[in-house]
Amino acid sequence: MDNPTTLPILQGMKTDLIIVGGGLNGPALAIAAARAGFTVTIIDALPKAARKTRDFDGRSYALALASKRLLHGVGVWSAIAEHAQPMLEIKVTDGRAGEGPAPWMMHFDHTEIEEGPMGFMVEDRHLRVAFLDAMDAHDNITQIDGDTVVAQAVEAAGVSVTLASGKEIAGQLLIGSDGRSSGTAKRAGIKRIGWGYGQTAIVCAVGHEKPHGGIAHQFFMPNGPLAILPLTGQRSSIVWSESTERAAQVMALDDDGFLEALRPAFGSFLGQISLTGARFTYPLGLTLAQSFIADRMALIGDAAHGMHPIAGQGLNAGLRDVAALMDVLTEARSHGEDIGGPLVLARYQQWRRFDTTSLALATDTFNRLFSNDNPILRAARDVGMGLINGAAPLRRGFIREAAGLTGELPSLMQG
Ligand SMILES: Cc1cc2nc3c(=O)[nH]c(=O)nc-3n(C[C@H](O)[C@H](O)[C@H](O)COP(=O)(O)OP(=O)(O)OC[C@H]3O[C@@H](n4cnc5c(N)ncnc54)[C@H](O)[C@@H]3O)c2cc1C
Repeated sequence: MDNPTTLPILQGMKTDLIIVGGGLNGPALAIAAARAGFTVTIIDALPKAARKTRDFDGRSYALALASKRLLHGVGVWSAIAEHAQPMLEIKVTDGRAGEGPAPWMMHFDHTEIEEGPMGFMVEDRHLRVAFLDAMDAHDNITQIDGDTVVAQAVEAAGVSVTLASGKEIAGQLLIGSDGRSSGTAKRAGIKRIGWGYGQTAIVCAVGHEKPHGGIAHQFFMPNGPLAILPLTGQRSSIVWSESTERAAQVMALDDDGFLEALRPAFGSFLGQISLTGARFTYPLGLTLAQSFIADRMALIGDAAHGMHPIAGQGLNAGLRDVAALMDVLTEARSHGEDIGGPLVLARYQQWRRFDTTSLALATDTFNRLFSNDNPILRAARDVGMGLINGAAPLRRGFIREAAGLTGELPSLMQG
């Protein structure tokens, strides 16, 4: 900044938080912060009309109970509830194509814990619209859509961003919620570690003859996991991770050919299946920011940690960032601290970096351990699954983990 006196930063602190990225974690933070009395400006590169659509884009999320509590706490759950399918049980199987479940299966039933269903399946479109509607309803959220942040600058008193349109916005704290290849992180000089898995997730929804009973299934297949996750009605969401080469072959098939390719892995336990929309692909990889903070800047969600969807934890981890950051910011404000100050941001990083890095590396290990047909590994993991399944305390531990109830829970996730 050449002449700070001409910058809006010094003309009055118009916004407390500048949030770059209006995907999912950005809006969650905007709403939580606005409810807590902070002023927020949130910017997304995509026009709002492109994000506020109920056209099914194929993606659904397994939202842990802790995430549901956060959504309830920030007032958006009521708009989502009717579209949310409770996950009552999870069955995990070392799948063999065409052979159905292996004898060693892990079965997690929510009745083993007191808190209720361990999670809810919610389609991306419903979550997105609920977030956008909630942001529209808050006076202290300014939304800028269809514009891209191209530069950011920091000085002692504040931070500012410049948009492609030439607009400049100043605030106290900059939040990078701009996804896996976060420009906010890059511009702050934060490096990333990560690698590709050579796998692609094929995502779609299927209708089926028999009810799913609220049961989520995870079959570990040699090329990658296949998740069959219950949606409202007689529908399920499919996340089918395959080698990138095979995924391309399967995607090139017409719908009938695709279903034929899916059936040996899917099995027949839900009767006849049919596609209820388009199919989508997502290349899979791990990406971790080496720091979650910089001067007057914090990263949340995929901008901080992008992980394998094997355990359905990516968004849950992002929402936990949101809840933890809210605790840190509200406490800082109550003590009269600068919310963009280094000690405040260090508290956020200390809370979240170790947890999310461990989670991302655990998903990496699971994926490597299960995405192969090595007979020794297969025998070892089948025995391991049998042992976990046979021990009630271990089983309950897994259920609580899936529900997001372990570790230090931020206030918004305490229910
Ligand atoms: C196949 C698959 C299945 C998954 N299933 C689950 C699941 O079951 N449960 C779960 O918890 N998680 C799941 N995840 C993970 C989840 O999808 C992600 O963690 C989540 O979508 C990340 O949201 P985000 O808001 O952090 O980032 P994004 O959704 O990537 O949003 C980033 C936003 O930033 C904007 N942006 C980027 N750069 C700029 C810029 N310079 N200026 C302005 N705007 C910018 C983009 O337009 C975008 O809207 C899954 C992921 C995949 C791939």
